[in-house]
Amino acid sequence: MTLKKIDLNYWEEYFLEQIAITDEMIKGFRGSLSSQNEHQTADLGDFASLNQEQNDTYAQISRKSLYRKQCHNALIRVKNKKFGICMKCSEIAGKNVYIPIDLLKLNPLRTSCMDHQKK
Ligand SMILES: [Zn+2]
Repeated sequence: MTLKKIDLNYWEEYFLEQIAITDEMIKGFRGSLSSQNEHQTADLGDFASLNQEQNDTYAQISRKSLYRKQCHNALIRVKNKKFGICMKCSEIAGKNVYIPIDLLKLNPLRTSCMDHQKK
């Protein structure tokens, strides 16, 4: 288990940036939804494909919103100095077990150590 000090400033900036990027993307999707609505026609074929397009856009928005929320939660963990610590270990055993930095780099949203990783 690596106990390398976690650079909280780095991660704070990282998540703030991710949130800003995600906000822009969601804004873009919302914009394309309203322009899709403007182009609605009475043609049933067009309507069906438009519907599909809108469903895809809604799905994108919901995925991005979830990601944004996860980044926001990670940011709170950074501010509470809990970031990079396995939440299960600290809940169950009251121990601060650091998640190896290599794993965090692969998945910054990770909240569990190797032992507690979801199967
Ligand atoms: Zn753990």
